Amino acid sequence: MLALAGAPLGVRCLVVEPAAGAPAGVAAEVITAPYDDRAALEALARRCDVVTIEVEHVPVASLEWLAERVPVRPAPAVVAVGQDRLEEKRLFRRLGLPTAAFAEPGQLSGGFAAGTILKRRTGGFDGRGQARLDPTAPGEALAGATRGLGGPSVAEELVAFDRELSLLGARAADGTVATYPLVENRHRDGLLRETLAPADASPALTAAATESLVRVMEDLEHVGVMALELFEVDGRLLANEVAPRVHNSGHWTIEGAATSQFEQHLRAVLGWPLGDPSVVAPAAMVNVIGTEPDGSAILAVPGAHLHRYGKAERPHRKIGHVTVLGADERQRDERLESIRQLLAGS
Ligand code: AMP
Repeated sequence: MLALAGAPLGVRCLVVEPAAGAPAGVAAEVITAPYDDRAALEALARRCDVVTIEVEHVPVASLEWLAERVPVRPAPAVVAVGQDRLEEKRLFRRLGLPTAAFAEPGQLSGGFAAGTILKRRTGGFDGRGQARLDPTAPGEALAGATRGLGGPSVAEELVAFDRELSLLGARAADGTVATYPLVENRHRDGLLRETLAPADASPALTAAATESLVRVMEDLEHVGVMALELFEVDGRLLANEVAPRVHNSGHWTIEGAATSQFEQHLRAVLGWPLGDPSVVAPAAMVNVIGTEPDGSAILAVPGAHLHRYGKAERPHRKIGHVTVLGADERQRDERLESIRQLLAGS
């Protein structure tokens, strides 16, 4: 999606992707190789003006090697923070952003009173690398579940949140920032299902989230797009995760904002002026998970845009998304309901 956004701007992308048949192949030259493949990294260093990431799990050592040869944005140290849930939480704490209570499992004798969610510090995504323990689980259950995750983890208190929100923004190399509106995210089985943009949120809540994101971007001297995932509890915001990259909860911006998150990220990392992040129409994004839907039925819904990633069908895998726009929230919600029904039937 970065390569697609770059094409009309004359940006040509060279993509390194370990899996064969990378979707980026429709719009970019692809090198199929692991992220630490020396020849692939040499090609990036030799041929690119700037290197960036679209996924988080790129070895920091590869980015550090590249950074000695070509500008890497965001900086490897920022990517490293985004890869480690404990480092993220320490950052939030240092910057005064409230979070759910957390600890390294070794520091806890049992779980938290409200229940515990264990998350691998690194490598987990889309709900993988997590385990939940209810408040009555005996102390040894925590140790067992920790071992089961197969790597260092962080223990978090389960939060009875009212809803999940996220805020996306970008910071340019000269320090300029541009932020999108707060959006509401609905998950099931650890996977993002729907994003509603903008969220039905007070200006004060949006301002609080924006202030938090800007604080994180400025502290890290981040360059590029960044997403801050939040829980809303009784009108308060708890920071959950930060992603120093384009984000699934920002896919709606392709049609729903004046500048998409993908173009915005390219503008930031290329040292160009940031674009207008304002909303052009209320939008909803629904992920296509597991199986391909009836594309023509989706395209028959007014205001709907279908994105197919060209990935093989597999349960629990995001293989596309649909964004639907409406003239107002009511029309957006009616159209969203049609899309939900079509996807449920696929
Ligand atoms: P994460 O990978 O941290 O985004 O977690 C995946 C999903 O699990 C989140 O989107 C929430 O729905 C849920 N979750 C994560 N952490 C917590 C928590 N501390 N309390 C309750 N639910 C959580």
